[in-house]
Amino acid sequence: MAAVKSIIKSVTLGVDFLWQLVYRAYMVATRGTAGYQGMNWIRQEKRLAIYIRDGMACVYCGADAETDRMTLDHVKPFSQNGSNGSNNLVTACMSCNSQRGTAKLSDFAEADVVKYVRKQLKRVVDVKGAKAILEARRS
Ligand SMILES: [Zn+2]
Repeated sequence: MAAVKSIIKSVTLGVDFLWQLVYRAYMVATRGTAGYQGMNWIRQEKRLAIYIRDGMACVYCGADAETDRMTLDHVKPFSQNGSNGSNNLVTACMSCNSQRGTAKLSDFAEADVVKYVRKQLKRVVDVKGAKAILEARRS
């Protein structure tokens, strides 16, 4: 019986080990795809350039960086193959970003806001300028 128990134990350990490998492979495989983006999915200067393009304020409610923490919202959700390009990202406060979730832009925002968002997305972002600001801040 002892032998059987030890076999069962080693099988269990084996399964756990295998599960860990599968889990790790899954985390690596899903990095950069739907649902999981990791920590540094966008360069700091690109993030700042988009905030600046949008006047450091949430495109949905107008809350600004002085009162709320700003985030970037994917207009076409990342989980629906929306890109990480500045033509798909807008400045949003935490509250609007989480409220919207993956809702369609036109279902979440009023028509005039949708129009404003579309206009912002077409504007060029000044990544170089944002980089210079960050560098000046560090020195
Ligand atoms: Zn907002």
